[in-house]
Amino acid sequence: MEDIEANLLDVRRRIALAARRAGRSPEEVTLVGVTKTVPTERIKVAIGAGLTDIGENRVQEARDKFRVIGGDVRWHLVGHLQRNKVKPAIEIFSLIHSLDSERLAMAIEDACARINKVQDVLVEVNISGEESKAGIAPEETLDFLRLVAQFEHIRVLGLMGIAPVVVDPEDARPFFRRMKELFDEAKEEHIPGLNLRYLSMGMTNDFEVAIEEGANIVRIGRAIFGERPTPQGRCKT
Ligand SMILES: *Cc1c(COP(=O)(O)O)cnc(C)c1O
Repeated sequence: MEDIEANLLDVRRRIALAARRAGRSPEEVTLVGVTKTVPTERIKVAIGAGLTDIGENRVQEARDKFRVIGGDVRWHLVGHLQRNKVKPAIEIFSLIHSLDSERLAMAIEDACARINKVQDVLVEVNISGEESKAGIAPEETLDFLRLVAQFEHIRVLGLMGIAPVVVDPEDARPFFRRMKELFDEAKEEHIPGLNLRYLSMGMTNDFEVAIEEGANIVRIGRAIFGERPTPQGRCKT
């Protein structure tokens, strides 16, 4: 179990170095430990070692783990959210990284109005442009933000993106850079009701490049918890 503590230290060190290279303070970067397929005992070890934010990509799995681990840590939904899972999702997650359609926004708005919650979300942008990937097209993002800003029970705090799978993380850099430009552009719009502050991008293979390009939330699984079993090992979104 010690490996998790050592891995966590190493990831934090690498985050700090990347932040410094970009002239930013390491404390500005929130580490979300992605725990999909990781058993609760191992998650608890990471929490014991100081992990405060955990990310899951499936509502049902998160729900089972939430019952064991509880709400002393912040829960992040990093995977796609189906509309029929919105109700349990808003009961668990502090931040939903994957708002990617008007219909989903409407479902979140309705469910939150019922329990009087304001749900923090990030808008997922399809930065890779791959058709198989979720997310709002970059050129539609500003309009989408203007729309969602009007929902009373949704608070959009930023953007999330997933770079394409590449061998050399340097090849992901242009996608992160484009994402940061979009983020800055969106902030400059000063859309009423919006206070954009989070840019969630970077995973095990590319988080240092993402931080250099402006990420302030990174979502890291394998570098902390080790390789996942193969059937679910790919990052499915
Ligand atoms: C699985 C997953 C991650 C973490 O990926 P690793 O390669 O294990 O660091 C981050 N973001 C999303 C959306 C994921 O599904």
